[in-house]
Amino acid sequence: MRLILLGPPGAGKGTQAQRLTEKLGIPQVSTGDMLRAAVAAGTPLGREAKAYMDRGALVPDGVVIGIIRERLKAPDCARGYILDGFPRTVAQAEALGETLEAMGTPLTAVLSLTVDPEELVRRLAGRRSCGSCGAAYHLDTAPPRRPGRCDRCGGELFQREDDREETIRKRLAVYRDQTAPLVVYYRGRGLLKEVDGRGEIADVFARVCRLLGAEG
Ligand code: AMP
Repeated sequence: MRLILLGPPGAGKGTQAQRLTEKLGIPQVSTGDMLRAAVAAGTPLGREAKAYMDRGALVPDGVVIGIIRERLKAPDCARGYILDGFPRTVAQAEALGETLEAMGTPLTAVLSLTVDPEELVRRLAGRRSCGSCGAAYHLDTAPPRRPGRCDRCGGELFQREDDREETIRKRLAVYRDQTAPLVVYYRGRGLLKEVDGRGEIADVFARVCRLLGAEG
């Protein structure tokens, strides 16, 4: 399966993509994760991307399109993948369409996760991750046993620079203006499947699986 997970920041794309990865045995391809890794490694790409990311803006299309083109050629993508956080603009969607057409590998479906804006702010502002192993927590819904420490490895928990309230509002506005048009774009191509992203992670996952015909 070649899937796109579409939805505003905080809709649960990363969480659902991770679960789908386990169930379907295909990789999660997250441009946000790849860019954060480049920032952490201090590569030229990371240095270019950091300024955009810290202020909640999108990294230029040419940069992310180049990263994705390379990534989709990797052997682990041969059986399919779950795109998480890409495409985010119509230009990216068009570039992806051209790439996939040239590869002879059309998309299977685009899942659009829908969640109310106020709920998104609450989810993002409470999000914390472990600096050592990457485990995800939420101060309200999935708190660590010891404040500030990872249950799994004892590492220190941190808040993403762009998960602070002011930047969250900016990211939501960027989503509305630049990414939400993709819902219409993919609906017009008969690929869109809308999923109610509210509620428990397991319930949302059950809805996702039902839509994909991947129950059980
Ligand atoms: P995410 O983890 O998907 O929320 O992405 C974090 C940040 O990385 C975004 O706010 C953007 O600055 C950047 N980013 C991730 N994916 C893309 C993309 N497809 N296009 C442009 N910028 C991106």
